[in-house]
Amino acid sequence: MGWFLNLVKPKIQSNTESNSPANLWHACPSCSEMIFAKEWELALCVCPKCNFHERISAIARINMLSDVKPKMISLPVFKDDPLGFKDTQNYKDRLKDARKKTQIHDAAIAAEISLDGNKAILFVMDFNFIGGSMGQYVGSAFLQSANLAIAKNIPLIAVTASGGARMQEGIISLMQMPKTVLACQFLRENDVPYIVVLSDPTTGGVIASFASLGDITLSEPNALIGFTGPRVIEETMQIKLEEGFQRSEFQLSHGFVDAIVHRSEMKKELTKILDIFARARENKKERRKNERN
Ligand SMILES: [Zn+2]
Repeated sequence: MGWFLNLVKPKIQSNTESNSPANLWHACPSCSEMIFAKEWELALCVCPKCNFHERISAIARINMLSDVKPKMISLPVFKDDPLGFKDTQNYKDRLKDARKKTQIHDAAIAAEISLDGNKAILFVMDFNFIGGSMGQYVGSAFLQSANLAIAKNIPLIAVTASGGARMQEGIISLMQMPKTVLACQFLRENDVPYIVVLSDPTTGGVIASFASLGDITLSEPNALIGFTGPRVIEETMQIKLEEGFQRSEFQLSHGFVDAIVHRSEMKKELTKILDIFARARENKKERRKNERN
């Protein structure tokens, strides 16, 4: 029966994930096209029909963006739930559920990677972990990644995906904004390149801090990038926003993004950028040496 299901596309295009044995088929969340799950995976979770870039896990992203086995970086851990916060659920339970779902400790992970021989520190956020929100862990993870990039004198690449601040950590989450901005300042002072890749969505306190401070800012197609989402703006201002407002293409045309890069091209593009930075830094070193002599 398995071979048959592999070959025949289900006729019903909705509710397919549950009625396909072993999830053989994947319905594109944007155009509902049925795609063989293996094919979807090989296409890096991008729809071959409508180019929709599905949100992916931080672990998948790190594996996707390295030529060699990524060396995971151990990040500082803090006491959970510093404020004893409870909304519809205890924060502690929310963390427990998110950890079980994503298999990571908090909304960001980091690794040392290599792209065509160029080493870099890769910091990646995971939207599946409480909306990729930034609390003490994420802010400190970014700072640690920046410090490591400085210590090793290699570029830092940050792939962002976030709804903003971790509201369950109140003021502590807001304190992560100046902390990460300072980390970007340290990178600059030490002449360490910093590349940002904005993925869908990057909003709130993350776009208002380290996500908008890259030396080079790339974005995946059609990613939502902005401080406040369009729905809230429309409701508050009582206005109708133009189609595509705050999407990557809109941000590119307004100079906020340097280039929009298809997921399948991202590794190649980052390799090119790392090469350019490596050559520029080499030239600079050479110039300084000549000036001294
Ligand atoms: Zn599609």
